[in-house]
Amino acid sequence: MLKWGRSLSLSTAALLLAASLTGCGVVSSGDKPATNSGEQTQTKSADDKIVIGMSMDTLKEERWQKDRDIFVAKVQELGGEVKVLAADGNDATQLSQAEQLISQGVDVLVVIPHNAEASAPIVDKAHKEGIKVISYDRLIKNSDVDYYLSFENVRVGEMQAQAIVEKAPKGNYVYIGGADTDNNAHMFKEGAMNVLKPLVEKGDIKIVYDQFSKDWKPEEALKNMENALTANNNDVQAVVAANDGTAGGAIQALNAQGLVGKVPVSGQDADMAAVQRIAEGKQTMTVYKPITAIATKAAEMAVTLAKGETVQADKKVNNGKIEVPSILLDPISVNQDNLVDTVIKDGFHKVEDVFKNVPKDQWPKQ
Ligand code: BGC
Repeated sequence: MLKWGRSLSLSTAALLLAASLTGCGVVSSGDKPATNSGEQTQTKSADDKIVIGMSMDTLKEERWQKDRDIFVAKVQELGGEVKVLAADGNDATQLSQAEQLISQGVDVLVVIPHNAEASAPIVDKAHKEGIKVISYDRLIKNSDVDYYLSFENVRVGEMQAQAIVEKAPKGNYVYIGGADTDNNAHMFKEGAMNVLKPLVEKGDIKIVYDQFSKDWKPEEALKNMENALTANNNDVQAVVAANDGTAGGAIQALNAQGLVGKVPVSGQDADMAAVQRIAEGKQTMTVYKPITAIATKAAEMAVTLAKGETVQADKKVNNGKIEVPSILLDPISVNQDNLVDTVIKDGFHKVEDVFKNVPKDQWPKQ
């Protein structure tokens, strides 16, 4: 940490310094990206190294591993180190891991909350120690969080519904949402409904099923989709799924009814499995959110704040308590036609991976 002694009493500091000099218990995750496991750091040396804490909900979806790895690498490039802990979707675990990072004396805390509301105490605890908090990708609600860095999430939902409406302008629609506890899931739904509601009012479409999927789990989405199909005797013309994981669950349910490729399905994240399904015509679209952009920006912000400098954030997002200074990046709608010009061109995926299940003579000319 930079401001030595800020959160430690003098006697504790002396003890820790002694421990660090003997080399006991000093753990640094600066050399390589940290793993999911809880690392136990009792001491740290009183040098000037910038240390950033990263408190993650989960590493389950493919994207979060990229977020972590790119973030850690960028902070290291800027001369700092990162301590990463992931809570495996458990609110109590995330709170105690955040406390652990705070007590280890991180300079700045970056939080990807599992639960938008339950994570608010993390901000209070960090602030008591003079540590600034960046809400990464997901908003921490009803708190004094310092910054929010994310994508235009309502726009994500609009892109999803828009792409599906183009394929299925009329008929019965199923909405497979994300985690009720994640503020993003509500914004994605808001965006989708911005597009769907006017068509419902016009009488063109009917939303016959609309449920969140607990913790974004594909198996919850599978159950939701099975229920939707059963309740409607398979009379479903379109599925708006909130991300690629839930799209995977929905597509599994459609597959069991011989409906894959016949019913359009949306997604988000440009997961490998999803872009492969798009190449094969099993999924209609995904929303690509350039992870390099958000993770790099977050690293720059965190290091800047750790140095005691200010960060420019032009937008404001209300989190129920304050207007949070925010930076919102642009999402990109991806379908079969622009796979090459988006995720492949950007180096997010390789052409041979994306088109792995497609006969080679049908691969795009690059
Ligand atoms: C993120 C998505 C992700 C989902 C599940 C959301 O908050 O914005 O990119 O797919 O969480 O982890």
